[in-house]
Amino acid sequence: MESVVLDGLLRPKSIAVIGASTDPSKIGYTVVDNIIKSGFEGPIYPINPSADEILGLKVYSSIGDCPGEVDAAVITVPAKFVLSVIEEAGKKGVKGLIIITSGFGEVGNKELEAEVVAKAHEYGMRILGPNIVGTLSNAEKLNASFAPVLPLPGKGALVSQSGALLIAMDMATFTRKVGFEKLISIGNMSDVDFADLVEWLDNDDNTSCISLYIEGFKDGRKFLNAAKKAKKPVIALKSGVSAHGAAAAASHTGSLAGAAKVYGAAFQQAGVVQATDLGNLFDLSLALSLQPAMKGDNLMVVTNGGGVGVLSADAAEKYNLPLKFAPKELQEELKKHMPPFGSAKTPADLTGMAGYDWYHDSIKAAFSHEWVDGLTVLYCETAMTNPMDIAKGIKKAIDESGVTDKPVTVSFVGGENSEKAMQWLVENHIPAYAGPDVAIHAISALREYARMKEIVNEPEEKIENVDRAKAMEIIKAAREDGRNALTEIEAKDVFRAYGLPVTTTKLSKTEDQAVELANEVGYPIVMKIVSPDILHKSDAGGVKVNIKNDEACREAYQTIMANAKAYKADANIHGVAIQEMAPWGTEVILGSVNDSTFGPTMMFGLGGIFVEVLKDVTFRVAPVSTKSAARMISEIRGAPILAGVRGEAPRDQAVLAETISRYANMIVDLADEVSESDANPVLVYEEGKGLKVVDARIILK
Ligand code: ADP
Ligand code: MG
Repeated sequence: MESVVLDGLLRPKSIAVIGASTDPSKIGYTVVDNIIKSGFEGPIYPINPSADEILGLKVYSSIGDCPGEVDAAVITVPAKFVLSVIEEAGKKGVKGLIIITSGFGEVGNKELEAEVVAKAHEYGMRILGPNIVGTLSNAEKLNASFAPVLPLPGKGALVSQSGALLIAMDMATFTRKVGFEKLISIGNMSDVDFADLVEWLDNDDNTSCISLYIEGFKDGRKFLNAAKKAKKPVIALKSGVSAHGAAAAASHTGSLAGAAKVYGAAFQQAGVVQATDLGNLFDLSLALSLQPAMKGDNLMVVTNGGGVGVLSADAAEKYNLPLKFAPKELQEELKKHMPPFGSAKTPADLTGMAGYDWYHDSIKAAFSHEWVDGLTVLYCETAMTNPMDIAKGIKKAIDESGVTDKPVTVSFVGGENSEKAMQWLVENHIPAYAGPDVAIHAISALREYARMKEIVNEPEEKIENVDRAKAMEIIKAAREDGRNALTEIEAKDVFRAYGLPVTTTKLSKTEDQAVELANEVGYPIVMKIVSPDILHKSDAGGVKVNIKNDEACREAYQTIMANAKAYKADANIHGVAIQEMAPWGTEVILGSVNDSTFGPTMMFGLGGIFVEVLKDVTFRVAPVSTKSAARMISEIRGAPILAGVRGEAPRDQAVLAETISRYANMIVDLADEVSESDANPVLVYEEGKGLKVVDARIILK
């Protein structure tokens, strides 16, 4: 549905330029010139009320005067005239508007931008922009932009939120020798956004891979859903992940959830490959646009030099695709295609003597062997061999193997002849890079892509036995009390309503009542200050553990009260909590933030008082399935502690995964109310013995 609507915008049969100019220094001139020069085959209508001819084309004074249909209109008139030309375009039946004009939301002129969108939608038109460079497509032979030339042809599409960067990347396609089929400038995203483009490009026959330069999303979840559904690889370079409102966070989770972590988690969940920088965006775009995903972990490396071979092994480990030894029979087979002093282990070292034949024969044998899931071919230029010969040997071996569902990447290290050979490989759809590290990074991205896609479509789970009304009652009472921080007791009541196992906790308002409740709960107990103004209770001397009798209970009551008053004289103190003392267990943290882009987001990690120091935490956009929760548990650095190390019994990871999933469902259910929360620590016991939440914190929106 969306796809058909965007056709008029991105695959127009006819195009008008509203604001076409006879002045070569104006964008309105450059755009007409570019459309002509790019070889566009449909009618081009320059619109300008005070000109007759521009670059040999007849000029129309208004779009309404154009003789034929107009699919797309490029708008370059000043912002104040945009509304009225949109009205005319709408009446003419234009389908899509490419609004290059700036001076809208990006300079605070949000109202005008909203009016422009409303006006376009009145006529069923879609908008790309405003504040963009335009769009460029080799297949459509259309440069509807003020970028100088169509990019070097390639198979992927590149969408950029930065206009200047789009122009720079356009020209860099020639020096980097990485081509693109399309470049699309997305600008203010007043209407068409990343999600719309991912959906349209996924159905575009000329596009094999979708690369994105992203500064931010208006609706993160919409993008995630579009990316999840995409059948083609999506690669994202996200800028601005360094400083992200971590400063004034009230919870542990809030202070740990930087944009880098949350975006990283979201991209992973949606199966989006993350580029690390601009160069990497080009490198990965090349591999993902030309090669299929890598379906297993067995990477074969063939080389003529030990040095680049070892570098590839290092890179493989770094990029999470460690090399393994091939099975005996493949090693035996490879030995036939190398000198006796070569090595058939991985990397297979054909030695510096290797020329066309050895490369060809060993690659053909390896690539068609069922154990091999992907191949990286390395070559060091030597005085005895010709890089172009080697390149041809590689290509021929791959073609003759008949294998089309496994990826291959190449790296030649050498001089100009190596460069030329690599360019020839790229033209023949084999990605080639100047260094072994990059070739391995590229093939590992093809592996990572397949791994992510396998888990992207796991079904969501709905949790049962939830008392939402009870949770809302507690939240409402706190709000009526003029607070947005729940006390530990209130937060635990909310957690309990969602079936999380919390310690029995009661509120005492006097020393006598403390003793009475202590006896009800049963010694040993833990006593804690209860105050909405003291969020980190230990810092205030507000926690006393392992209290064994009435005398100690009275003493603790006095001390906690005195400490709290000393810590914050005007703190509103509800009393002292009396709670069961949970037995020792491994301390973990469960927490949530309501991310401004992706909404409720779940955190898990090793907990306790050092959580901000160790930062051993991982994130997922909620909800989180039990399976996905299990992956969160296994991906933190401290995972072996939970799995059981040095004779320690393994912890109850099954119950922990269920609890993470339940918690994540809770924050989705309460997304309108809760801004941050955490359970820190949660004490996790041996397998079969479950866990206990001993501290709870909820901050309301
Ligand atoms: P805060 O994080 O506000 O300082 P906590 O409630 O987390 O306070 O208590 C501090 C520490 O005391 C916890 O990290 C935990 O080690 C221990 N603790 C707290 N409550 C209990 C309990 N009910 N059973 C056992 N240990 C507890
Ligand atoms: Mg705590």
